[in-house]
Amino acid sequence: MRLKIQFNPIKIKKRHKMTNNNIRFEAVKMALNHEPIVTNKTNTRASVIFAQNVFTREKMQEYIASNILDELFELMDNEKTLSRDIANSVAIGMKKWAMDHGATHYTHWFQPLTGGTAEKHDAFFDFDANGKPIEKFSGSVLYQQEPDASSFPSGGIRNTFEARGYSAWDPSSPAFVIGDRLCIPTIFVAYTGEALDYKTPLLRSIAAVNKAAVGVANYFDRNVKRVTTYLGWEQEYFLVDESLFAARPDLLMTGRTLMGHYSSKNQQLDDHYFGIIPERVLAFMTELEEEALKLGIPVKTRHNEVAPNQFELAPIYEEANLGSDHNQLIMSLMEQVAHHHHFRVLLHEKPYGGVNGSGKHCNWSLGTNTGVNLVAPGKNPYQNLQFVTFLVNVLKAVHRHNGVLKASIASATNAHRLGANEAPPAIISVFLGSQLTEALAQIENADVDKGIIINAKKEMKLGVGNIPEILLDNTDRNRTSPFAFTGNRFEFRAVGSSANCAGAVLALNAAVAEQLTMFKQEVDALIEQGEAKERALFHVIKRYIKECQAIHFDGNGYSDAWKEEAAKRGLDCETNVPKIIDNYLSDSSLKMFSSTGVLSPSELESRCEVKWENYSLKLQIESRVFGDLVINHVLPAAKRYQKMLLEKVANMKMVFDADEAKALNEQDCLLIRRIEAHASAIIAGVDKMTKLRVTANHIDNQRERALSFHDNVVPIMEDIRKHVDELEMWVDDQLWTLPKYRELLFIR
Ligand code: ADP
Ligand code: MG
Repeated sequence: MRLKIQFNPIKIKKRHKMTNNNIRFEAVKMALNHEPIVTNKTNTRASVIFAQNVFTREKMQEYIASNILDELFELMDNEKTLSRDIANSVAIGMKKWAMDHGATHYTHWFQPLTGGTAEKHDAFFDFDANGKPIEKFSGSVLYQQEPDASSFPSGGIRNTFEARGYSAWDPSSPAFVIGDRLCIPTIFVAYTGEALDYKTPLLRSIAAVNKAAVGVANYFDRNVKRVTTYLGWEQEYFLVDESLFAARPDLLMTGRTLMGHYSSKNQQLDDHYFGIIPERVLAFMTELEEEALKLGIPVKTRHNEVAPNQFELAPIYEEANLGSDHNQLIMSLMEQVAHHHHFRVLLHEKPYGGVNGSGKHCNWSLGTNTGVNLVAPGKNPYQNLQFVTFLVNVLKAVHRHNGVLKASIASATNAHRLGANEAPPAIISVFLGSQLTEALAQIENADVDKGIIINAKKEMKLGVGNIPEILLDNTDRNRTSPFAFTGNRFEFRAVGSSANCAGAVLALNAAVAEQLTMFKQEVDALIEQGEAKERALFHVIKRYIKECQAIHFDGNGYSDAWKEEAAKRGLDCETNVPKIIDNYLSDSSLKMFSSTGVLSPSELESRCEVKWENYSLKLQIESRVFGDLVINHVLPAAKRYQKMLLEKVANMKMVFDADEAKALNEQDCLLIRRIEAHASAIIAGVDKMTKLRVTANHIDNQRERALSFHDNVVPIMEDIRKHVDELEMWVDDQLWTLPKYRELLFIR
């Protein structure tokens, strides 16, 4: 006999009456109800809270025995290897400090090739030999750990060798506490020592630049012992209300809108850039800045960006490794803080069509231990010759490796910026501005024999115009240039907003290090032949200016004329991301990366595999989400509206006679047909897209697969989108369930 179970119906208390079951309207209502959340402030003065949660040198002095400290500082400054004894002593102090700051757990914090950061938390909690519970943290776990490398992309390195990977402490970037955990910045390498992350090659590239640049800087000043790479990033991002975000499966799953009719008003009035920051956004920024400052991230600048709901954040520049860590850190911090404010932060390069996308401008410069910025005009002619030397070498490096630099910023997400309808173009060129252009032209045409007069004070007149007067005009800006000189630094503007800065910076560093090394060889050879040092420098610089003219372009980078011109100049004009990635494997790239010790050929190959795979996976996900969205959200809304129209048309005859009804129905009939045409095109398109995706998925070779997604899946998605966006225009607004661009972009 079967038992009958009688359920007691539970009375559900309705908290608020749903007035409309259209999820879009619900989301809009919720978004409009979100108030600015102002957190209770104690003392938030930047100078007071700065680095509060960082294990800085001052804190080390408090927590680590002084005899150990000297050795620790020495190895931090000079990249020496850490001994076990020191590691143990440091670990004891670090644990104490972290626990005093509320930490119960620790984690190695590293940057795998996924582009994000990774952490695995372990508690300090343990048992001692007598079984007594204690808090424990030893030098060996500070020093090195073994996360399961097989769960991170390795591009084949782990298949050829061993699955094991190690994370190892990077003492040049300080540990910090977030919430209940002590985070220890680490590199992440395979069993064989090959890099599985961004930090390892970045550190190598910084060392390579140091070595090569010191050699060249010594022509001008023997006291230069160290050259530091500096990085100041500018992070662009969008904010969107969390309820609107949740109602858009595409934003939720891919970080960008895969469809959406452009809003009638977007950025054409230029009324957002530098405008008043909306209150709710300001509350978010304030909390973000406070948290960032506590973590030692020297945030300084904030403003509205060009597109509606787009913003920017920039710190004071730092040593490049630290700067890069801080950018990774702030990206996760932004996501956390955004949650408190019922926002989602969109770091995707192109969340919306029709308005600007987001970049991450990487401002890059080189500074000496003597306090000189090598890429800024100096106070006297001698320093200016040094400036010109470094400037021209950077130009030469960017010229020789313009394809590699483009590869370093190419990704499925950044592809929507590169060479698409907006900045930056998919051609790397350097903007110099009119004054510097003029100065270089003068040097190029100067007669070395007549031009150089060296007076007793070892000051040098260049005879090529007034170089000491190079006071570069900062207003001379060009937003269309992917790589611009901006007075005292280079601004690599083509980097994507979601990227790890290290990818671009390590490529630039490697190119510059290789170039400076070659430059020194050439100058030394001339000196050996009896040429005076300044004349030798001059000779090589003059030749370089001529040789790398092709990379210099101050005009409009978006114009079609530039594309033609750039091709004539022999610059890399490829726009296809999987093919751009090939540049990493060219002979000159392999040579540059291995001669500088930044990446070995097998590391480069593995990185390309990861990049291709990543490209395919991103598109695979986009295409799947898009298919669902179109079939489950767009078509049902369109069909519902069509049905309403059909009923109305049919019922007209009940009121009007046949001919009259026919005439009156004309517009609606047209609309019914229009909807039908778009709907059929969409269904056929989705069918085709699915087949093409399956075909691509079955390709084993990563490069071929990425190409198949690029060549076949992307165009059909674009095609379908056109029909979807048209439907959005025609279908009754009341029936449309997905938040529209105007809501996503303007509600805040
Ligand atoms: P803009 O948008 O006008 O370029 P921002 O103030 O938004 O200027 O950003 C400039 C960025 O450049 C900041 O991150 C700043 O720290 C950085 N920066 C300034 N000088 C240097 C330098 N010498 N080397 C590296 N970065 C620098
Ligand atoms: Mg800026």
